[in-house]
Amino acid sequence: QTKNGGRNGFCFFDSAMTEGATERLRLEHDLHGALTRQEFFLHYQPQIDLSSQQLRGVEALCRWQHPLLGMISPNQFIPIVEDIGLIDRLGAWVLEESCQQIIRWDQAGFLVPRLAVNLSVRELERKSLVTEIKDILERTGVAPERLELEVTESMIMRNPESGIQTLAALRELGVTLAVDDFGTGYSSLAYLKRLPLNRLKIDRSFVEKLTQDTNDDAIVRAILALGRSLGLETLAEGIETSAQVAFLLEENCVEGQGYLFSHPMMPEELARTWRTPVF
Ligand code: C2E
Ligand code: MG
Ligand code: MG
Ligand code: MG
Repeated sequence: QTKNGGRNGFCFFDSAMTEGATERLRLEHDLHGALTRQEFFLHYQPQIDLSSQQLRGVEALCRWQHPLLGMISPNQFIPIVEDIGLIDRLGAWVLEESCQQIIRWDQAGFLVPRLAVNLSVRELERKSLVTEIKDILERTGVAPERLELEVTESMIMRNPESGIQTLAALRELGVTLAVDDFGTGYSSLAYLKRLPLNRLKIDRSFVEKLTQDTNDDAIVRAILALGRSLGLETLAEGIETSAQVAFLLEENCVEGQGYLFSHPMMPEELARTWRTPVF
């Protein structure tokens, strides 16, 4: 019933099937036990300093290995996990597992400066989020400065005042904050100025046609200028070509992430590929 062999090895459903109530019910049902059955795992994708090409961080990306349907994309299962009230447990697992991983890398002599973890709407709205993250950092021994949390504009704008409070409390912990998919949401510049952010991640949709579409060139230039004037670091998502890198370097974008540098991968493979040789 599924189409296999899609990009990334994910299994894709026909849109008719995803919308189909039966398919959705099945995923819902299967998701309930998925955490206990240890069907989730994390891939990690490098975040690279564009001028030195050095590893600056990794982003943890959640995968679901369904026993029968194969690997299912987070774009598909995260919204369902949110709807059925399991995101708190999954989010806590992602944080704990990725924090443990960065310590395992430390112990193997592979130093990853920064770990980026995606938050979901529901998590940001949860009162206990801040203390839970504090606990996980203490338990795993990860220095707060090494953890970056990714939020989107729409997540913050759903409830700006409480969003600002939560983000401020997270910064108090010492973690850093990035706006993911920047440019695709509706954040007012007035709020953007008030948010305690560290980094703008330029959405892949603008990076995709860079140097081929003058509108996208202009949008990326404008986002980089905005980031600079707000004192924020910048990172471009979805870099696939060296022409995109050349453009971004010319425009002083600091970091990049994308298939050109590395696909998201298993932690052992990432360490093998990115460990700098010790002479
Ligand atoms: P995102 O946070 O914006 O992550 C970037 C997505 O772009 C990832 O898709 C990554 O595999 C993909 N990507 C990276 N480089 C390239 C490239 O050069 N070209 C193309 N075409 N794609 C690239 P992925 O892993 O399927 O994740 C999709 C989204 O699911 C993420 O978007 C994030 O919003 C969400 N997500 C993933 N893991 C988690 C998680 O643990 N918690 C939450 N709440 N959301 C997650
Ligand atoms: Mg992200
Ligand atoms: Mg993104
Ligand atoms: Mg996204």
